[in-house]
Amino acid sequence: MYKSLMHTAAIAALLIGGGAQAASDADIAKTKEILGTAVSFETSKGLGNVPKLAAYLADELKKGGFTDEDITIIPMGETAGMIVRYKGDGSSGKKGIGFAAHMDVVDADPKDWERSPFTMVEEDGYLFGRGVLDCKFGVSTLVATFLKLKAEGFVPTRDLVLVFTGDEESGMETTKALSYDYHDKIDIEYILNSDAGGAALAPDGTPVAYAIQAAEKTYASFEMTVTNPGGHSSRPRKDNAIYDLATALKKIEAFEFPAEVNEITTRYFATLGPIVGGEAGAAMTAFAKNPKDKKALGVLRSSPEYVGTTGTTCIATMLKGGHAENALPQAATATINCRIFPGTKAEETLATLKKVAGNDAIQWKLLGDGTASPASPLRDDVVDAITASVHAAYPGLTILPQMESGGTDGKHYRASGWPTYGVSGIYMKMSDMFAHGLNERLPAATIPLALDHWHHLMTDLGSKK
Ligand SMILES: [Zn+2]
Repeated sequence: MYKSLMHTAAIAALLIGGGAQAASDADIAKTKEILGTAVSFETSKGLGNVPKLAAYLADELKKGGFTDEDITIIPMGETAGMIVRYKGDGSSGKKGIGFAAHMDVVDADPKDWERSPFTMVEEDGYLFGRGVLDCKFGVSTLVATFLKLKAEGFVPTRDLVLVFTGDEESGMETTKALSYDYHDKIDIEYILNSDAGGAALAPDGTPVAYAIQAAEKTYASFEMTVTNPGGHSSRPRKDNAIYDLATALKKIEAFEFPAEVNEITTRYFATLGPIVGGEAGAAMTAFAKNPKDKKALGVLRSSPEYVGTTGTTCIATMLKGGHAENALPQAATATINCRIFPGTKAEETLATLKKVAGNDAIQWKLLGDGTASPASPLRDDVVDAITASVHAAYPGLTILPQMESGGTDGKHYRASGWPTYGVSGIYMKMSDMFAHGLNERLPAATIPLALDHWHHLMTDLGSKK
């Protein structure tokens, strides 16, 4: 995506410095304090620390003028979800706006890290620690912005609501509770999610584009198993579980799901085409105009980066079979992982796979819940506010709607009826991306950008009548 971006980068470079920064040194210091404290709570699965982090955040918010009534902590097993309501005067007559993040993190083994993952350290312009990026940055910048707005005496025309989950990286039980059980209590129209979207910077630090994540593909894994009476390998027969499975797998390998488009992917390719340029760029432009263009589709599908945006993909990821080297196999199993285009149910994709495999004796199993997540409409009010916020920092920066092949809490939010937009305040190089990995880090320079971003979005969308 950074290829052939000189033109955009050059324009962006000319425009840098156009926007005045609203976040003060005190705001930045407060955010670092909250972020550092949040990192110190080791909130990976099973350790029971998420409720402690939620209690700390509640405390900070209460010191800043929020009341007990504004804050709901929902304990669930060892973790918890959290709702914080910034009450509006109701003059817009509209439901609230949600702002999402998750309080849990992926495990981090201190033995493998260069620094302690649970003590935030600032070095060479970076903050290091598990969660500094994913997603305690979202947690701390959203809480800091709530505190700042309260201190400024801001009264929104509709409620602003923090929606924090406590197991996004594992079971998403808190996400489901917030989405479905607390749906009416939370009472919002849509969600802005800090856990996706944001700006990509070129290697020289100039921004390339700002992505709004408006859809997520459905994640679904299927296990396919062939069983057989087996027998001794000295007495071979034609029927064989491993061969039957292999035959079915070769058919799945050869199968291509049809091209699909929605408003997000069409705008994505139409916007990115001229920026990327070359053969890939021309294919994007052609595909955006005509999704039936087989040549363009072929070019995009040959790229791991773009294939996922052109339709459903399913790929074999695991294999097991047989039980002894001198026995005919009694079972052979493969796992197929699919990323399903929004609008198609996991069961429908399974039906397609069954048909393609062409062997009724295969037993199929859907692993996980395969929750389908509809694409969120690119509503003008939201896209305009995000564009204005991004352009306040970087005038003219390309805004790129995006459908992600991975997943966040957004899948349940969308499934429950809340359109969800991933609009993080993170401006970073792809080379700085260590989320989930070792030595997770965050460029400290993105803190004031994110604070301005949330402040802009909350005051803009929260002031409309
Ligand atoms: Zn995350």
